[in-house]
Order: sequence, then structure tokens, then C-alpha cells
Amino acid sequence: MSVAARLSEVLERIRRAREASARAAASVRLIAVSKTQPPEAIREAYAAGQRDFGENYAQELASKALALADLEGLRWHMIGHLQRNKASKLLPHLGCLQTLDSVALTRELGKRRAASAAGPEVPLEVLVEVAIAGEAQKSGVAIADLGSLLEAVERESSLKLMGLMCVPPASSNPEAARPHFDALRRLRDEHGGARRLPELSMGMSFDLEAAIAAGATLVRVGTAIFGSRDAPPA
Ligand SMILES: *Cc1c(COP(=O)(O)O)cnc(C)c1O
Repeated sequence: MSVAARLSEVLERIRRAREASARAAASVRLIAVSKTQPPEAIREAYAAGQRDFGENYAQELASKALALADLEGLRWHMIGHLQRNKASKLLPHLGCLQTLDSVALTRELGKRRAASAAGPEVPLEVLVEVAIAGEAQKSGVAIADLGSLLEAVERESSLKLMGLMCVPPASSNPEAARPHFDALRRLRDEHGGARRLPELSMGMSFDLEAAIAAGATLVRVGTAIFGSRDAPPA
């Protein structure tokens, strides 16, 4: 099946899940996760109308952004952990950082973005990644530290706080992540609600329906659009 055909299947799944929860048409946006996929696959999705793409590694995002610089309106989301020393390489290409998880990285990005060509006039959109399943998680801010991190983000005039993101532990049951999705939405409500944190980034190929039922506004989908990452494309 072509990328365009799979993409339209995913959009149909999103539409059905949205309607099942009586949510408005513009309330859920698809991030196409293109990690390990060649630029040609991204061009196919772009030609089919997709504009938001997610990558996990700073170097891979930067080189694809250069290879695809002719695609107007394409927006890159960083969805993998960002090391502070990679921030400057990434910033010129980034539309949204979904994985902000420390005060140190917040300060570094704020300072670099303010000094960049875009400057504080065009703030970088950020989501704070939360370690929603607790200590077992490799990345994300601890729930107890979320409040102070949100305040640190709001002190940086060159960053724009957009919401929260989570990556629950992998499971073979598509409903297994649902309690974590519900927990992220409750955290949003405890920390100022949708006015302060409009976006909730949660749900992937396997469990986007559960995430949308729980209130996701951004779903991050790779395999269901581009095929398996372990096997070379057929
Ligand atoms: C790879 C990845 C995705 C996409 O996962 P699929 O199962 O391929 O849809 C989403 N979010 C993050 C953070 C990822 O690393």
C-alpha cells in the first residue's frame, strides 16, 4: 500500500475516534513520525497533504530539513530526547519541541532562541514531556517537578508553552496506555487547564483511538503511515 493510502486510513481512524468522543474537526492534529524513513517517503506524505512531521534524533531532523527545504509549510516536531549540546544545530529547523524536560534545557533554548535570527518575535513552541508512568521512564520531567518547570518555560520570552506530552511504556494491549493518557489530561487540568496548556500530545499507531478518547490534540503516528521500521519497505 502507498504512503498516501495509509495516510488516508490513519486520518479516517482519527476522524472516527474524534466523532466517537463528539470532538470538533480541528481538535486533533496528526504528526507523521518519519524517523528512519527516507526523504522520498516524506515527500509522498507531503504531496498527500500532510504538513506536520516528527523526528527523534537531532542530527536526522536537521539533515532531512535541509534535504526537504523546498517543501513550503512543512513543520518539524522534535519528539525524541534533546541533549543540550544539540540544541543549536536543531533550532533553525524546529517548529515545535515536544520533549522539553528540564529547567537547564529550558534556559539554554530560551537564550539561544532569543539570540537566533528568528529571535524572541517568533517564539519556539514547546511541549513539556512528563514521565507519566513514574521512575521507570527514561525521559520526561517527574510529576512533582512539573509546576516549577512550567513556570521556568513561561519566564523565557522566546519560548511559547503549548502543552504536555507523554510516551507511556510500550504494551501489546492498545488500552493499556489509557490510564496514563487520562493521567496526563488530569495533570493538564491541575496546572491551568486548556487555556494555559492547549495541546496534549499522546497516542501512536497502535493506540491513537484510546488517546483521542482521553483528550489528545496531537497524535504521533509512524508505522501506520510509513510501514515497519525494522523491515525495509516492500
Ligand atoms: C516512534 C515514535 C512514535 C511513533 O510510533 P509508531 O508506533 O510507529 O506510530 C511516536 N512517538 C514517539 C515519541 C516515538 O518515538
